[in-house]
Amino acid sequence: MNEIKQQKQGEQVQGRPKRGYADLEKEVIDLGLCARCGICSGVCPVDVISHNARGYPELTGECIQCGRCVDTCPGADVDFPALSRELFGKEYDPDSTWGEQRRVVVGHPSDDTVRKNGASGGLTTALLLYLLKTGKIEGAGVVGMDPEYPSRPKAILATTEEELRAAAKSKYTIVPSMEVLSEMRKRKGPFAVVALPCQIHGLRKMVKTDPALAGKVKYILGLYCHYNMEPDGHLDCLRALGIDPDEIAVFEFRGGGWPGGFRAVMKNGEEKQLHHINIKNIMTVMLRLYGSKRCYMCTDALCEFGDVGLGDFWAIDYDDEFGDCSWSTMASERTDVGRELLESAERDGWIEIRDIPPDRYSRRTENFTREKKTEGFVRLRRFDRQNRPRPDFHFEVPSVSLKGHLMAMTYASFGVFRQPKLRAMALRILFSPFGSLLDRLNTWRKEVFLKFGGN
Ligand SMILES: Cc1cc2nc3c(=O)[nH]c(=O)nc-3n(C[C@H](O)[C@H](O)[C@H](O)COP(=O)(O)OP(=O)(O)OC[C@H]3O[C@@H](n4cnc5c(N)ncnc54)[C@H](O)[C@@H]3O)c2cc1C
Repeated sequence: MNEIKQQKQGEQVQGRPKRGYADLEKEVIDLGLCARCGICSGVCPVDVISHNARGYPELTGECIQCGRCVDTCPGADVDFPALSRELFGKEYDPDSTWGEQRRVVVGHPSDDTVRKNGASGGLTTALLLYLLKTGKIEGAGVVGMDPEYPSRPKAILATTEEELRAAAKSKYTIVPSMEVLSEMRKRKGPFAVVALPCQIHGLRKMVKTDPALAGKVKYILGLYCHYNMEPDGHLDCLRALGIDPDEIAVFEFRGGGWPGGFRAVMKNGEEKQLHHINIKNIMTVMLRLYGSKRCYMCTDALCEFGDVGLGDFWAIDYDDEFGDCSWSTMASERTDVGRELLESAERDGWIEIRDIPPDRYSRRTENFTREKKTEGFVRLRRFDRQNRPRPDFHFEVPSVSLKGHLMAMTYASFGVFRQPKLRAMALRILFSPFGSLLDRLNTWRKEVFLKFGGN
């Protein structure tokens, strides 16, 4: 064994039994708890973990038993109450819809090209550009599309303006994007990362398991996340529409205007907008057909432990001055780092933001957050009763009302459509004119329901 390996091994294992990749397999992967976030490969000091096509980790060399992969992994264990005390000095309330936030804003970049190229309103990319161009970061961990396979997302460490701009827009599919941490380890930093809630859980754990690397990640920009899709979700949509994913030059999950939707540009230049249903409604169905099972066990929708959480701002929920905020991103400021970032980017003219008072928060954001919490609580309690493995978030799982149970049961019943033949049929309907009609009927049903006092 060479000197570096010996040193790293010695540093990590003093005073406790050796742990390593085999433990990650045993405690997380084999139990179905891997979130495929990429933290394990990112923190591996000898780069012997990579990810297969479905995003699962694989050992590609000799494990030095430093334990970082398993100890940083958020798959089976994240201490939410401890994180809450460390970050906010407050006890954790698992039932709080919005989490600990100082301020909520809606806004967009001052640069209209960044705004119009964003998923929601381009605020995330604008913040990254601000940090890069003012020398506050050396680069940012983001997710672009693979130039070799343009229908597949890929993690990148963006160090130029062009790379950051090209990586804009959401990729609604599992990407173990925290693998870029291994590249950050080799550079000076500091860096920003764009991360989903599960990835943020791992990044916060990293402060203890690898403080030097954690010190390089100065800004954590979280993306709100209902759930994420299996890597074949969008590819199956293409196939259901008779499109060969290999014939695609550009694929976008949020392309073609605001709020946009699945869009493909073929190698022969032909452009295809794949659905006419609002992206939110498409994703509601897609997340039932292709949602990752580990996502269904998560209760954090709004990046409760990020520096800033960013999500869609549903201007259609408002009939006042907020109603003209299309092409905008909503942002929850959570930490001092987040506050400083939003304030300085605004002061220096990179972004335009305004406060949303608590009684004006979006109903849609509130609904999906409550849904994720309620469904998560129902599942976690059921798994406990059945003695099945589940992530330990170190809080007592709140009980759920009868209404919550019924909602969870209704959504769970969509699970039958995960059967391949039924799923293919559901996709063909969803992406057809008949699907649009069904969607319009559903929207009408919800409006009537709302009018008569529903939620
Ligand atoms: C899987 C997923 C689920 C989401 N679910 C919701 C939801 O339910 N409700 C809601 O309001 N918002 C959700 N969002 C967030 C929303 O889609 C926008 O990303 C967010 O509003 C920021 O928009 P923006 O225009 O400011 O970002 P942009 O300026 O377009 O920048 C987006 C940044 O995110 C990075 N990125 C894209 N995909 C990923 C990914 N998979 N993992 C990590 N980084 C990524 C990009 O590289 C880019 O840097 C989700 C995002 C993702 C990726």
